[in-house]
Amino acid sequence: MLVDGFGRQISYVRVSVTDRCDFRCVYCMAENMVFLPKRDLLSLEELERLCDAFIQTGVRKIRLTGGEPLVRRGVMSLIQALGRRLGPVPGTLEELTLTTNGSQLERHAEGLVAAGVRRINVSLDTLRPGRFEAITRWGRFEQVMQGIAAARSAGLAIKINMVALKDVNEDEFDQMIAWCGAEGYDLTLIETMPLGDIDGDRTDQYLPLSLVRARLQQRWRLTDLDCSTGGPARYVRVEETGGRLGFITPMSHNFCESCNRVRVTCTGTMYMCLGQEDAIDLRTPLRGAEDNGPVVAAIEAGIGRKPKGHDFVIDRRRKRPALARHMSVTGG
Ligand code: SAM
Ligand code: SF4
Repeated sequence: MLVDGFGRQISYVRVSVTDRCDFRCVYCMAENMVFLPKRDLLSLEELERLCDAFIQTGVRKIRLTGGEPLVRRGVMSLIQALGRRLGPVPGTLEELTLTTNGSQLERHAEGLVAAGVRRINVSLDTLRPGRFEAITRWGRFEQVMQGIAAARSAGLAIKINMVALKDVNEDEFDQMIAWCGAEGYDLTLIETMPLGDIDGDRTDQYLPLSLVRARLQQRWRLTDLDCSTGGPARYVRVEETGGRLGFITPMSHNFCESCNRVRVTCTGTMYMCLGQEDAIDLRTPLRGAEDNGPVVAAIEAGIGRKPKGHDFVIDRRRKRPALARHMSVTGG
């Protein structure tokens, strides 16, 4: 079992399988984003070994993310391999899941279910096609909607992730809650985080969810739910729809004391906190030996250094982002 210096048990790892993406969401990356050279990326076999090393240390939940995980060539073979690690006992995976923009879901939904994936997060910031294209720059709304429909038909439980953007989609929360309720999807609202350079100014996009929640309460009956996921999300039930609504508030609230997760980039760098620079290189021990001993030792050393929490600030006076790396590198 992995326990950090603050007594937190680390049972969850998010693995970015690529930094590349077929969208260019305005809050995530600049339109001319430069991606890592392919040779720096871990191969699919290396990613599988890395996940095995985490499972060996007691991790029971893996989320694949990116960039867009489903645009990595051959990713389904990795998903199938990890699916074979699913099981009910310690030493196996309790859950394998992913976060996706939905563009490739139509062709992969059945395969995901066959591999053992039971639920997925799909990012969807708006239900209006024109607005969708403005936010994602390169995304096609119909393709994503067909992907979501295919995922539902295949039997996947779906949670929609919606980044709350001031003056961009803040007039759509009611409609999104109603739509998710009708379709049977959970919904999570996310505050923008100051990660990586984008073309615009983040202070213009930031919308504190405390404000959003106060507004929503005038229209919907929201009942607090007592289900902690070990992350910065807090959940309520929307009584009118019966749906679950989450608020991810890393900026206005800090829930680091119950954090149970670490993140690994597609180059094998483990970040112990999304909001701090400290990291451990897992690629060198992974490539340096055939057995997983050295990489397991490196993971354990990194967990011992997991910081108490982050200190994000969105500050008009500070022109640079709080952290240089993009969310698409660390994995959302
Ligand atoms: N491409 C996939 C997707 O969009 O779902 C997976 C990776 S994406 C980086 C994961 C999540 O991070 C998405 O829900 C996205 O909206 C969110 N995200 C990206 N940049 C963000 C930022 N600066 N602040 C808050 N959320 C962000
Ligand atoms: Fe791509 Fe996801 Fe970032 Fe949008 S949020 S650009 S879909 S990685």
